[in-house]
Amino acid sequence: MIINEAPPFKELSLNSYLFNDESLELYEDYITKTLVYIQKFLANRKFYKGDDIEEIKINKQKARLTDINSSNPIHKTLEELNELYIENAIAFHNPTYVAHLNCPITLPSIVAELIATTVNTAVETWDQSTSATFIEQEVIRWICNEFKFDDYSDGVFTSGGTQSNFMALLMARDHYAFEKFGINIKQNGWSDQVSKFRIFCSEKSHFSIKKNAALLGMGYDAVVPVKVDNRMCMDTEELVLAIEKTKQEGNIPIAVVATLGTTDYGSFDPIKTIGKIAKEQELWLHVDGAYGGCYVLTETHNHYFDGVEYADSITIDFHKTLFQPVSCSAFLARNRKHFQYVSYYADYLNPLEDKDSERPNLIEKSIQTTRRFDALKVWLTLKTLGTKTIASYLEEVHHLAKQVYNNMLSNPNFELAHVPELSTVVFRYKNSEADHEPTHDEVNLHIKNTLYKAGKASIASTKLNGNIYLKFTLLNPKNTINNLLNIVDMIEETGKLYQPKTEAL
Ligand SMILES: *Cc1c(COP(=O)(O)O)cnc(C)c1O
Repeated sequence: MIINEAPPFKELSLNSYLFNDESLELYEDYITKTLVYIQKFLANRKFYKGDDIEEIKINKQKARLTDINSSNPIHKTLEELNELYIENAIAFHNPTYVAHLNCPITLPSIVAELIATTVNTAVETWDQSTSATFIEQEVIRWICNEFKFDDYSDGVFTSGGTQSNFMALLMARDHYAFEKFGINIKQNGWSDQVSKFRIFCSEKSHFSIKKNAALLGMGYDAVVPVKVDNRMCMDTEELVLAIEKTKQEGNIPIAVVATLGTTDYGSFDPIKTIGKIAKEQELWLHVDGAYGGCYVLTETHNHYFDGVEYADSITIDFHKTLFQPVSCSAFLARNRKHFQYVSYYADYLNPLEDKDSERPNLIEKSIQTTRRFDALKVWLTLKTLGTKTIASYLEEVHHLAKQVYNNMLSNPNFELAHVPELSTVVFRYKNSEADHEPTHDEVNLHIKNTLYKAGKASIASTKLNGNIYLKFTLLNPKNTINNLLNIVDMIEETGKLYQPKTEAL
């Protein structure tokens, strides 16, 4: 007599939507149907269909999850999705998209995403991840080597620069507390001394430094902004003064953040001098290379990284400047021991008794538990394209930034805010006839919004000395100077047509 007869497998999975050994046909069918919509997306000539408030309201309705009690055929749902999302999506690969740090992505990285998502590897422990662990470790080793970090360094993939910077501040804080005061924050939590800890970064550093200080319970005021010079780089004399002032106030400097590639200006803080100061003052040195970090691969910018090997930790975003899909970022520490500040040994997952150097558990370095296999796309990109191709993309977008800058310099209707260091250009339209600041702010916002809403160009804006400026962020190596000059023309035309809001007499 058979007691536990297995249920008839076929029947169970016949109508199943789950990915398994019987679903290959359906999987292929879904992908083929999806490709039709990808084709449509690529056939769009504009970066954006355009912005219409009535349609936005309708789409909000369309997004609602009604009628989900029963199943629907995929082609029907894909058609709905197309109308709601794909037709309205922003095409970052379009040359009129020059707003934020969104890059066009490599084809191998998309293939890697398909594989990683389909297999659905979770990389936190070796028993779930097996060889994927080695692929992540190898990509980390590669990038550590690029920064001349030695074998004692290590790193981990994160969800983005914000999370990487979070890990940096946490490590810096907990290390300082432990080394100088014998305080074990991980074990015992907060201590009064920690309220006096201060972190220094340039006034042009990314907002995530302040935000993370707050998330870590230290508050915005734990971050001391340091003035920049006329190239938007941290003024190191100001850094020394700020450190002294902080000490006089009875507070405790613990770390300095050097940004290699500021978000707005692409400027590189002088890492060598900052490193020297950090060493003298016994401060943790964190390098935020979220934007500029991948430029270590280029010949044009490699010199900016001289001294980066003395950093205690580094943030790098592959989803910004290695042409990878979101999310793809890493956090590196020069001394791998410092990952102890985030390690936790859970009985069900990675018990300490099971520690095995041949089968490492990456969770010991991560603040996430379940984690995507994001390293695969970098690995496949590197193996397929090679680093020279990527470096040439980065050099090309820098070159485009310089070209468009030089061109705008001779145009009296534009004021340039900086010489482009990487691939951004910050400027504003300044009609010579209007001469008071509120008007300039209004015109520039008007230009940005008008071009966006018409689907003509997406440009970013930022503030400098309280005034609105426009920003090109160039990450598309297929862009051309002619196309960019065309956008400049549109900006000028839109600016000229602007009618200032006249006050009622
Ligand atoms: C974009 C950016 C960040 C934040 O990175 P995310 O991946 O968006 O979280 C941090 N620092 C700098 C300098 C950046 O440009």
